[in-house]
Amino acid sequence: MTRTQVLQIFDRIRVWQQGDKRAPHKPLLILLALGRLQRGEVPVVEFSQIDAPLKTLIDEFGPTGAGKNRHFPFWHLATDGGGGLWQLSGPANILERPPGATPSLTELRQNHIAAGFAPSVQSALQHETELLQEVARRLLNAHFPETLHADILAAVGLTLLDARHARSEAAEYRPRNRDPGFRERVLRAYEYRCCVCGFDLRLGQQTIGLEAAHIKWFQAGGPDVESNGLALCSLHHKIFDLGAFTILPDSFTLVFSQQVAGGEATKNTLLAQHGNPLIKPQSREYLPAGDFLAWHVNEVFKRPQRQL
Ligand SMILES: [Zn+2]
Repeated sequence: MTRTQVLQIFDRIRVWQQGDKRAPHKPLLILLALGRLQRGEVPVVEFSQIDAPLKTLIDEFGPTGAGKNRHFPFWHLATDGGGGLWQLSGPANILERPPGATPSLTELRQNHIAAGFAPSVQSALQHETELLQEVARRLLNAHFPETLHADILAAVGLTLLDARHARSEAAEYRPRNRDPGFRERVLRAYEYRCCVCGFDLRLGQQTIGLEAAHIKWFQAGGPDVESNGLALCSLHHKIFDLGAFTILPDSFTLVFSQQVAGGEATKNTLLAQHGNPLIKPQSREYLPAGDFLAWHVNEVFKRPQRQL
């Protein structure tokens, strides 16, 4: 299988099936499998062996409760994009089921169903180490904001080298280009301070540790406009993308997840923002739009919220 064929087969995976609703299951399973392959672990693995790490991964980087459907990608990847990417093995009475009849978690475990990349894909990825990394980069760029890339790679144990190469090649297949003016317009709208904590450090003339975040992710089709942007310090940007807190539409109230925990320092600083209003942008036209905030509440925020 050529490099181009391998890249095409991964690019064809069906995700974002219901418009902008997040389904990170398949990309996360593939990244987990790529990590195993890169480390030289047995490439075909029984579901029970990756059940726990897969659940942790989908719970952490997916929407609320997504981990309960962790077996779906393990089963459905086999028929995805016309097949040829992922291969199941196990007793015939299970494997011969129609693709839509997904076995339960228990059935997968009890019948020792195993899976891994199809042999032709696996040998191409093993033969060319850079190709494996390129597949991983494309999945990350297509499904997750950059704030989460390093954490996901660490969680699946993947190492990516030569990021310079990544950017040039990533640009070729991106469905649309990012607006380079987005960052500056968003920071200006919020007068160069974090709209959660007011952080506004400068080093000389330079703004430090302040970023323009997309409320509705770029990867989900979120536009590069002020009403879809927030000026956030690095910490608030990262935990906003992880769903630790969200902003309620209409009232612009900051609400934290019940899953956020920590000691006194966390309570006195981070959680002290819970229930506070967002620090507003300098003009009403820049206020976050309700539909973008609603997307974040539904697709990223880790429910349930703490009591107000
Ligand atoms: Zn902040």
